[in-house]
Amino acid sequence: MSGPQHISAANLVGWFERTSRDLPWRHPGVSAWQILVSEFMLQQTPVSRVLSIWPDWVRRWPTPSATAAATAADVLRAWGKLGYPRRAKRLHECATVIARDHDDVVPDDVEVLLTLPGVGSYTARAVACFAYQQRVPVVDTNVRRVVARAIHGRSDAGAPSARRDHADVSALLPNDATAPQFSVALMELGATVCTARTPRCGLCPLDACAWRQAGFPASAGLPRPVQRYAGTDRQVRGCLLDVLRANNAPVTKSQLDVAWRTDTQQRDRALDSLLADGLITKTVDGRFALAGEQ
Ligand code: SF4
Repeated sequence: MSGPQHISAANLVGWFERTSRDLPWRHPGVSAWQILVSEFMLQQTPVSRVLSIWPDWVRRWPTPSATAAATAADVLRAWGKLGYPRRAKRLHECATVIARDHDDVVPDDVEVLLTLPGVGSYTARAVACFAYQQRVPVVDTNVRRVVARAIHGRSDAGAPSARRDHADVSALLPNDATAPQFSVALMELGATVCTARTPRCGLCPLDACAWRQAGFPASAGLPRPVQRYAGTDRQVRGCLLDVLRANNAPVTKSQLDVAWRTDTQQRDRALDSLLADGLITKTVDGRFALAGEQ
């Protein structure tokens, strides 16, 4: 490829090697399981918060079988404040399946990875690429934004389409052993330089960018609403889980009630949803505990 439809692998990989963040799950010797754990944690959670949990987590539970041997409550408690705690439950289930059905080894095939609990299209390809050095397209929000700008001349990527997004990134991957480095570098560029609100084009290693060359035209779409957290059911669920995490024994309903006083209907709805998700259980005497803890 040539012209603006091309991203120079040498430029991008060279930039990555000079400037990338020193993230522990990228270090040599980190196992496929530990990389998979980092990918579960990084879904919807900023790197800085994952950094505060991942090292202790993989020391405590370095393998799928070690994780499977823990109780679901232990895993939920260690997940702490990462948010979206269903991920912790799915990670525990994923560990159980790998330990039981795959000899405690994370599969290296994307199609097999996709059969594991909690592993979706992005995570399967991220593990195949980062843990097993395969040439597969790894497409997250950051990658989609860089491709939209550099290749298509648009300020943002619009609605995701797995087939189109994978085809776009596959066409950019170099046909040699640098493909995995290229993938991680593309993600890093979107995360640190070509950011959603304030791209720092002066630091960009790309020699051509269609959006920059077109004079940064504004997006035709409506601006995305900013996600809020305060006052949402998600926040209430977090407050209820905090109470359970802080207690090693089941708690009463009134102990939970003090965690959220502003809207009792919302509190009860959040409690019901935690029960429905299997993150907490109700004891025979009507108290509440983290899943698997009673
Ligand atoms: S030149 Fe600017 S907009 Fe284009 S890819 Fe680089 S950082 Fe993003």
